[in-house]
Amino acid sequence: MRVRAVLAPAMILTAGLCLTAAAAGCTSAPRSRPPAAHPVSATPGHSAARPTATISEPVAVGCPAAPYGPRTYAPGSSKTVALTFDDGPGPSTAAILAILARYRVTATFFNIGTALATRPWLVREEGDAGYAMGDHTWNHRDLVPLPAASQAAELSEASAEQRSIAGTVPCAFRPPYGEYDSTTLRLAQQQRMGVWMWSVDTLDWMAGGSSSSYWVQRIIRLAEHGGALPHPIVLMHNQRKGNPATVMALPAIIQFYRSHGYLFVTL
Ligand SMILES: [Zn+2]
Repeated sequence: MRVRAVLAPAMILTAGLCLTAAAAGCTSAPRSRPPAAHPVSATPGHSAARPTATISEPVAVGCPAAPYGPRTYAPGSSKTVALTFDDGPGPSTAAILAILARYRVTATFFNIGTALATRPWLVREEGDAGYAMGDHTWNHRDLVPLPAASQAAELSEASAEQRSIAGTVPCAFRPPYGEYDSTTLRLAQQQRMGVWMWSVDTLDWMAGGSSSSYWVQRIIRLAEHGGALPHPIVLMHNQRKGNPATVMALPAIIQFYRSHGYLFVTL
């Protein structure tokens, strides 16, 4: 069954007024190790080749059991926000990491396997700095048309690549384009990865590599719509072509959520 990523209108806040403010607030600095990436033994000589269409053994042996089904709310009981960056690592990743470190907030990176292989030093930097690294498949294909074996390979090969590079495995998964079916959900659970969608879409990818103030302000405005939610998950990107507008918008987005009393959490 094809299940499109239909979120409730109240959860996709791409228009409308931002609700207000609570007390100024606390944030959490990145932990020394990410909660969603548990160390396991590395696999020397792991190949970054395209996954074969075979069902691989689950590799996320270091993760706790994951519930079945997608989640769209950031964890935590107080006001929490999860900043998420998809499709990396890319040319904007280092700048994003520097901003997160400067403001001492944490975030989750849903990385692509092929991008991991291209920029492995950034994968290690994300892990060493304590950010969560999630699985965003090997090659960012729409999973729904694929047979189960190919879907499984897309998930497991990306996990294996992270393990090979960083010595950790992802415990979080986000399907490309937000598209999944019951097979995807079953496979993610089998590989001990929670499925995390988003509730606030900044549409930052539409900037297409532009750094114009139009795009920067648009991204900030859309991100701030999450202020209407108690536990927003904010979708941003660090793609191969670069996301300079996202980088320029990020300090204002962090300051907005900090000033509205949100705790920054990982998925
Ligand atoms: Zn993506």
